[in-house]
Amino acid sequence: MTDVFIIGGGINGCGIARDAAGRGLSVTLAEMNDLASATSSASTKLFHGGLRYLEYFEVRLVREALKERETLLRAMPHISWPKRFVLPYHKDMRFEGETPISRMLSVIMPWMKGRRPAWLIRFGLFLYDNLGGRKILPGTNTVDLKTDVVGQALQKRFSKAYEYSDCWIEDSRLVVLNARDAQARGANIMTRTKVTSAKRVDGLWQVDTVDQNTGATQTIFARLLVNAGGPWVKKVLQDTAHVQSNEGVRLVRGSHIVTRKLFDHDKCYFFQGEDGRIIFAIPYENDFTLIGTTDADHTDPNEKPTCTDAEADYLCKFASQYFEKPVTRDDIVWTYAGVRPLYDDGATSATAATRDYVLKIDDADGVAPILNVFGGKITTYRKLAEHALEKITPYFENTSDGWTAGVALPGGDFPVDGVDTLIANLKRDYDFLDDFWARRLIKAYGTDAAQILGDAKSGDDLGDAFGATLTAREISWLMDKEYAQTAEDVVWRRSRLGLRMSADEISNLNTWMQSGANANGDITIAS
Ligand SMILES: Cc1cc2nc3c(=O)[nH]c(=O)nc-3n(C[C@H](O)[C@H](O)[C@H](O)COP(=O)(O)OP(=O)(O)OC[C@H]3O[C@@H](n4cnc5c(N)ncnc54)[C@H](O)[C@@H]3O)c2cc1C
Repeated sequence: MTDVFIIGGGINGCGIARDAAGRGLSVTLAEMNDLASATSSASTKLFHGGLRYLEYFEVRLVREALKERETLLRAMPHISWPKRFVLPYHKDMRFEGETPISRMLSVIMPWMKGRRPAWLIRFGLFLYDNLGGRKILPGTNTVDLKTDVVGQALQKRFSKAYEYSDCWIEDSRLVVLNARDAQARGANIMTRTKVTSAKRVDGLWQVDTVDQNTGATQTIFARLLVNAGGPWVKKVLQDTAHVQSNEGVRLVRGSHIVTRKLFDHDKCYFFQGEDGRIIFAIPYENDFTLIGTTDADHTDPNEKPTCTDAEADYLCKFASQYFEKPVTRDDIVWTYAGVRPLYDDGATSATAATRDYVLKIDDADGVAPILNVFGGKITTYRKLAEHALEKITPYFENTSDGWTAGVALPGGDFPVDGVDTLIANLKRDYDFLDDFWARRLIKAYGTDAAQILGDAKSGDDLGDAFGATLTAREISWLMDKEYAQTAEDVVWRRSRLGLRMSADEISNLNTWMQSGANANGDITIAS
């Protein structure tokens, strides 16, 4: 028996699990694949307020997200860090045509024909700087692209840009660290476990699961069910729990391309297209550039999203309107796509559908409630979890209050500006690490990195090497503590080392992981 059973191990399910476990509730979470295997590993990876949502007057969402950036940054300075965004200004700049701002401008400034005057962009950035309060992140400034290094990669027709702040987040690591922390606080996290049925029986939820690896089935009773199924939220509601509901989800696919590094500085670009959409070009994993995203309606959550050729071409063409050197399909080294499970607010276009979240509780018979999670951003996951708990705790006695603001995630218990010191200390204590390796370990594991390396005196002490600095010691950690079961989990979600590893290396890693070398205790990690 468990108090709360959560379906879905994306960021929302794991965030709710952590918060609920910390309030004294017993929690069980089932994820049918790997943690973050769906939308939560396929985002643009930004903790951001969402500058473009201001055009839709989504002030609540933007303010909450802006405020969250610094709260989250403090709790996880290893996997999240500040970023500067360069927004080149040109006189033909336009945002989406159907936004409330667009409609207002077409009445009061019809001669602009959808274009945005510089003062309006600056005003939007002023709001962005001030709506959520900032202590860590610097505010907006104007950049002369003729002289500043960020202008070098751009076409010469751009002379002026605005530069503002948001933050980077390692999305799939965020999910795993929430799951780890939930487990440390008593939650039972089950991966590769699909919920096949949930029904109300004698005032409880009877939840049936199947282990995707072994086929073993299990039945667990729960007082309250949370449906955090992301793109499957409606399917879980209707087909698994058989609850009638008018709430709808709008599935909107977003694709990204990863190219070889296109510019030589650490700032990101915010580009606006002639179609009113925006894309980002972001320095990625040292040697690459991440470009995205698109918005396309997607019908079936079971259909694996992929970046289509048309989307890849669209992103190349879009970025080429800004970069001096055109971006072509030959530059692309990897693509990925995810499906946004947006709350269906009846918007005309996929781009315009609200990015805010909606939490709906159904307790028609007064007992055995189900909480359904629609929409949301990675950025607002902690607030979403707090709001979910506000709806959940009235069904239980003796729960404690919200606690997650200001509590570090595993490995994140160090100052926001402490990454370089941690890296230097790690290199001092383990002198066989080069810069790339030490930085990678700190930015993935923070203060846990030294625990992984333990008493190693040389690279050989870390066991088999699988390429790109991955060793048996680290894989054992990922299997023992971070729910990794396959090479894919390791190279595309616990890390992004798949960008640097050959197919053979990944295959060898998988063979090692399936061989039981870890289970046989070849490498032991102190707990
Ligand atoms: C292209 C794109 C870019 C984005 N960029 C950003 C960004 O930069 N910043 C930001 O803040 N947000 C961004 N987002 C939004 C953010 O990624 C999502 O809001 C968030 O990841 C949704 O998380 P989730 O937990 O609701 O869903 P998911 O991560 O999809 O998790 C749902 C989980 O439920 C599991 N599940 C479903 N049915 C069952 C079942 N029957 N049994 C067991 N498990 C089940 C699935 O396997 C899945 O893992 C972006 C989204 C996309 C698509």
